[in-house]
Amino acid sequence: MDLAECIREYQAGGYPVAVVKESRCGRCDGVVFRVEVTEDESVRRICLACGEAAFIGDSAEHWDDDDAEECACTCGGEEFTVAVGFALFDDGDVRWVSVGLRCLKDGVQGVYADVKIDYGPSQHLLDAV
Ligand SMILES: [Zn+2]
Ligand SMILES: [Zn+2]
Repeated sequence: MDLAECIREYQAGGYPVAVVKESRCGRCDGVVFRVEVTEDESVRRICLACGEAAFIGDSAEHWDDDDAEECACTCGGEEFTVAVGFALFDDGDVRWVSVGLRCLKDGVQGVYADVKIDYGPSQHLLDAV
């Protein structure tokens, strides 16, 4: 099972995941990240190659540095490839965002954060992976 399948199977919020996108660094095209998540499941990824930080979905709006914790796999690994799943409304707006991580060390993967989106338009979130 790959990370996209894992996210689809998890089905955050109970809604079918229509789209899964892999995270790529906007600066260097890197695909390995350290990932921080807050209590309300806002997510920031930091590129391992170049240090560029980016928020996933609308996480920037709710971000609180004091509340952010680094994601760690059960093996202790803190370096991940990242994919983001989106459940959509019929009109294409985003209903639910889920963030899946795959540990680089042992390949264990899971959904580390999922957030319900209760406003529209929200299609721009599809680009914020
Ligand atoms: Zn980078
Ligand atoms: Zn691991």
